[in-house]
Amino acid sequence: MKERLQEIKEEALKQIQSSDDEKQLQDVRVYFLGKKGQITEVLKGMGKLSKEERPVIGQLANEVRDEITEALESKKTKLEQAAMERQLKEESIDVTLPGRPAQVGGPHLLRKVIRNIEDLFTGMGYQVAEGPEVETDFYNFESLNLPKNHPARDMQDSFFITEELLMRTQTSPVQARTLRKHEGKGPVKIICPGKVYRRDTDDATHSHQFTQIEGLYVDENVRMSDLKGTLNEFAKHLFGEERAIRLRPSFFPFTEPSVEMDISCKICGGEGCSVCKGSGWIEILGAGMVHPNVLEMAGFDSEKYSGFAFGMGPERIAMLKYGIEDIRHFYTNDVRFLKQFHGV
Ligand SMILES: [Zn+2]
Repeated sequence: MKERLQEIKEEALKQIQSSDDEKQLQDVRVYFLGKKGQITEVLKGMGKLSKEERPVIGQLANEVRDEITEALESKKTKLEQAAMERQLKEESIDVTLPGRPAQVGGPHLLRKVIRNIEDLFTGMGYQVAEGPEVETDFYNFESLNLPKNHPARDMQDSFFITEELLMRTQTSPVQARTLRKHEGKGPVKIICPGKVYRRDTDDATHSHQFTQIEGLYVDENVRMSDLKGTLNEFAKHLFGEERAIRLRPSFFPFTEPSVEMDISCKICGGEGCSVCKGSGWIEILGAGMVHPNVLEMAGFDSEKYSGFAFGMGPERIAMLKYGIEDIRHFYTNDVRFLKQFHGV
C-alpha cells in the first residue's frame, strides 16, 4: 500500500504540473482526493492491515493528501498570476502613441498689450485706475476743458444716452475723477486702461468701440522733460531699445502745450517706406502738460502743481507691433486670428 500511495503522489504531482487551466486542476483534485478518488480507494484496503500497520499507512495517506492539496493550491495561484499578466499585457496602454492635444485658451492679444503697458508703468510707481463706461457729460467733456459747444467736441462724435449721459469717448474722465478724489493734494500717478466708444463707421482703422490707456502724473515740479523721459522709456520697452522718439506740437483741449509722439520706423530705419508713408516716423500717441484749467477744476492749485498726461490706443500699438492690417480682427473673434498670438 505504501508503494501504491507513492505512485499516486507522483502521478498526481505530474498531472498537476502539466495542467494549464483551473478546469484540469479540478479534475485532478476529484480523481485523486475525491470521495471516490484514488486515495479513498487505497484506504478501503486498510481492513486487511495489522493494527501496527494501520496508523503508519493512515499517516502516510494524510501526508500524500496534504502534499497533493498543497501542489494544487500553488499551481492554482500560478495559473491565476499568469492569467493576470496576460490580461495586463493585452490591455496595457501604449504610452508611445501621440496624445490628443487639449484645447487651451489664452488672453486676448489686446489684453496682453494692455497688461504689458500696465506692468511697465506700475514698475515706475503708477497705479491702475478704472471708471464707468457710461459717463456724465461733465466728466467726459467739461471737466477736461471742453465746455458745451466747444468745437473740439466734434472730434469725438459720441453715443448719447440722455442729454447728460453718454458712452465715454475717452478714458480721460477717470483722470478727472481721480484728481478730484485727491482734493488738491499730489502726487497723483495713474494709468487708466479701458473701453471707449465713438460714433465711427467701422473700417480697417476705425471701430465704434476700442480701447485706450491714458496716463497722468501730477505733482510739484513735474516738467516736460519728465514726460519725454517717460515716453522714451515706454517706446523702448514696447518697440525695442533701438527705437528713437520725436515729439511734434499738437493740440488737445486738456493739455498745454500738447504733443504727438512718433517712433522711428523699424521697417526702413528712417529712410521712408510704405508703412511710415515715406516719413521714417510712425505716430504712436498724444500727450502734453495738463492744462491749468483742468487742475483748477479738480481743486488743484495750478501755481503749485503741474503734471503731464498721455493717451494711446492699444489696438494701434498691437497693429504696429504684430503687423495686423485691420482693427476689426480684434473684435470679430475669429479663433484662427486670436490663436496666432498665444505665445507672444
Ligand atoms: Zn518706414
